[in-house]
Amino acid sequence: MQHDAIIVGGSYAGMAAALQILRARRSVLIIDAGLRRNRFASHSFGFLGQDGADPARIAKAASEQLKAYPTLTWIEGTAERASGVKDAFVVTTTDGRRHEGRRLLFAIGVVDELPAIEGLAERWGKSVFHCPYCHGYELDRGRIGVIATGPASLHHAQLIPEWGEVTFLVNGALTLERAAHEDLAARGVAVEETPIARLDGHSDVLLADGRRLSFAGLFTATRNAPATPIATSLDCEIEETPFGTQIRTDSMKETSIPGAFACGDASRVPHSVSLAVGDGAWAGATLHRSLVF
Ligand SMILES: Cc1cc2nc3c(=O)[nH]c(=O)nc-3n(C[C@H](O)[C@H](O)[C@H](O)COP(=O)(O)OP(=O)(O)OC[C@H]3O[C@@H](n4cnc5c(N)ncnc54)[C@H](O)[C@@H]3O)c2cc1C
Repeated sequence: MQHDAIIVGGSYAGMAAALQILRARRSVLIIDAGLRRNRFASHSFGFLGQDGADPARIAKAASEQLKAYPTLTWIEGTAERASGVKDAFVVTTTDGRRHEGRRLLFAIGVVDELPAIEGLAERWGKSVFHCPYCHGYELDRGRIGVIATGPASLHHAQLIPEWGEVTFLVNGALTLERAAHEDLAARGVAVEETPIARLDGHSDVLLADGRRLSFAGLFTATRNAPATPIATSLDCEIEETPFGTQIRTDSMKETSIPGAFACGDASRVPHSVSLAVGDGAWAGATLHRSLVF
């Protein structure tokens, strides 16, 4: 069977796109590996009407609504390779099965490259975050550590004083010029140059000289890349962003390969559930129109 659309990635962006296409009574195959980017967090903030909800429950409610549409097929699995051209795409899953579609949509999300600091990975999404709009409010204007990962972290350190009293933990990731020091001082940011030895407790930072700094929470700017190489297997162009790389799309969310679209974190910055849903809804509508006109 040839589907009107194959959507790789059945999270917020992919499901928002699918909803538009299904409501036009077109057939959609969603292939989803179930590894949402926010699976490390127990609460999702800032999505209208769902503020503070369990992110898994938001996704589950959406998938239950989608599955009521008779033209949806949902496969739990991983898409390994995409090939073909507009009107005749083929997606192969890791179990060796071939799936045919007239259009493709990559809603595959991104991976977060975390700084290699002992104790950080297990605190990711619990007391270490990247987005202050998502997780800043709950720190209740307490002490916040911003762990640098590179030059872009200066922007993080300048922004986050909106949410609390900031210490910028440079950790050898960048060199601060005098102007940067002055700017940070004017914002009330303390700069800590001593390297980090490891994280401990809820969100304590142990420095190489033995000092322990306690915080209400930590932020760090991760580098991102599309979560899996499926779009690259079709030769879709990848572009640089201030935060890493993403699938290049035009204003209609079409990639460099005609008939193949991309949406959500994998093809836009900045990132949030709201923005992924909005981007997905738009991609679903433009993909559908490409089947009509
Ligand atoms: C720790 C953390 C906390 C966050 N908290 C918030 C918050 O509070 N509020 C907020 O708005 N945002 C938050 N975010 C951001 C939010 O998670 C993302 O913006 C959102 O998940 C993007 O949705 P998406 O659909 O584009 O991608 P994702 O949700 O990452 O979903 C991508 C899907 O594609 C699947 N996939 C990828 N490749 C393949 C393949 N080859 N085959 C099959 N399936 C594939 C994945 O398994 C996954 O299910 C948080 C992020 C992190 C890391």
